[in-house]
Amino acid sequence: MIKYALACEQAHEFESWFPSSEAFETQRKRGFVTCPFCNSAKVEKQIMAPSVARTDKAAKAPAPEAQPVTVLSERERELRAALRALREHVMKNAEDVGKGFVEEARKMHYGETEERSIYGEANLAEAKALLEEGIDVLPLPVVPDDRN
Ligand SMILES: [Zn+2]
Repeated sequence: MIKYALACEQAHEFESWFPSSEAFETQRKRGFVTCPFCNSAKVEKQIMAPSVARTDKAAKAPAPEAQPVTVLSERERELRAALRALREHVMKNAEDVGKGFVEEARKMHYGETEERSIYGEANLAEAKALLEEGIDVLPLPVVPDDRN
């Protein structure tokens, strides 16, 4: 871990930890390193004066962990949108067979009925049994917002 003293375009000074100097450069180029005061991504390393008292600055600096949270929530939003899109696609294009899902999936697998996309209900044990028989079942993603 490396601690960098950073400054944004408006000369706000802050400090942050990075796994390596490469990681800092990568995150900075992607705009993930932002000023905690004005949110600017135009951030540069401060020119270090070796023996400046750091205590005040350190007390003002935000917790270093604040940075990755922003990145994760951004990713999570994308992931959630992708899950919702998948779910909507399935529900629009596949046939809802409800509680008959397990039976219908087996019939399709053993060629007793035409192959198509279906969705419905199965409990964990049923889904596991289908997988063991070589039937490719996927849990339909539940998007947290859908419950509202
Ligand atoms: Zn700033």
